[in-house]
Amino acid sequence: MAASETALRVLGGRHPDAPQQKDLDKCVHCGLCLNACPTYRELGVEMDSPRGRIYQMVQVATGAAPMDEGYLEHMALCLGCRACETACPSGVEYGKLIEAARTEIQARVKKPFPWQQIEDFAFGTLLVTPWMLRFIGFKMWLYQKSGLEGLVRSSGLLKLLGPLGKIEHLTPEAQLPTFFSSYGKVFFAQGPRKYRVAMLGGCIANVFFARLHEATVRVLQKNGCEVVVPAAQVCCGALHAHAGRREEARALARQNVDALLATNFDAIISNTGGCGATLKEYHEILEHDAAYHDKAKLFVAKLKDVNEFLASIDLNMNMGRIDRRITYQDSCHLCHGQKVKAAPRKLLKSIPGLDFVEMPASDVCCGSAGIYNVIENEMAEQILSSKMKNANSVFPEQIASSNPGCMIQLAAGCKLHGNEKLKANPVPVMHVVELLDEAYRNSAKA
Ligand code: SF4
Ligand code: SF4
Repeated sequence: MAASETALRVLGGRHPDAPQQKDLDKCVHCGLCLNACPTYRELGVEMDSPRGRIYQMVQVATGAAPMDEGYLEHMALCLGCRACETACPSGVEYGKLIEAARTEIQARVKKPFPWQQIEDFAFGTLLVTPWMLRFIGFKMWLYQKSGLEGLVRSSGLLKLLGPLGKIEHLTPEAQLPTFFSSYGKVFFAQGPRKYRVAMLGGCIANVFFARLHEATVRVLQKNGCEVVVPAAQVCCGALHAHAGRREEARALARQNVDALLATNFDAIISNTGGCGATLKEYHEILEHDAAYHDKAKLFVAKLKDVNEFLASIDLNMNMGRIDRRITYQDSCHLCHGQKVKAAPRKLLKSIPGLDFVEMPASDVCCGSAGIYNVIENEMAEQILSSKMKNANSVFPEQIASSNPGCMIQLAAGCKLHGNEKLKANPVPVMHVVELLDEAYRNSAKA
């Protein structure tokens, strides 16, 4: 829902998690971040640039401007991609600032009925209740596999749904069995065990990216890992933190710290750039929690994105060929949030036959940004169209990524704006570990 549709109900007072003056003061207004910002590149509007948004946060923090509709709209239109952080020479932690601004907005502004209730249910109940996610996954699987989805799509009914109809094509395929069925299991290393690692499943990825998770487990096994999928793990809280629901993110962080630190793993693995960035910030999320801050630091020290982990070990090179021209789209939260940029490229280049080609502006957001493509669909589509022009310019047959949200957005982009080869490819987008998994399977066939 656009911020302009929200009814302002100011509850008064500054929130303890609101943007802090010391963090805002780091911005020296140089403007070096402007061209890195996708919304500024699309709109050319200062108030939709990082510098402009920080200026507005300062105005609200000092009481010089109210938290009005304009402020809400400019904060909502930010992707939270953190490209401005990479571009900034003054060390402005923009990701921290936008999450703080949204936390204050969440606390002070209630959305009109029924939007607030839907949001509260989605974040407070659905994302954190595995049986509900499994139930919805099963219903969606039935809807998709029965042919009903195809009928609805061809009937023109979607046009009657207005804005909801426009985002229907972003619905991913539900996958059964979900990865929740692997919770509590141990997958033994192939060959001598070199590492014992924990694998994180997340929330909706367990339903819509179950096969990706399984491929991740297989690739880790091939690389001497015993993979444990702890049963007590919960949703990482990234979507909550991005949406300004900080207390819920804190509660989830505490549960994951308890669930994963109980056993002394060599590494805790995430295959999702967006989740990983938040998981690596648990010590900041729990900064003022005396009982958990030190434990959160230990957790963060073990947390590794799967690309980062595999690129740091002696990679199993017993791979078959993949004769395909592939480009890579950076996950914003992997490259700007976690600063992991070289590792996925190193892994792709290690696959025999794979023709890796770099697209221009690969580190500019594709418009996915968590659930941004659902909530701010128009801007997300505009950004996606620019992204696909860059991807097409290097004539790939497939796009690799390291984040499920980007994979959904890019797959939609390939269908709408892809070159002939991308449009003809039934799987135009794959995760880096899925490509490694394919290469290992090809080696077995050879
Ligand atoms: S996070 Fe992304 S969209 Fe938001 S201001 Fe920074 S560069 Fe722009
Ligand atoms: S966020 Fe950084 S790069 Fe952007 S205007 Fe401020 S100091 Fe300059």
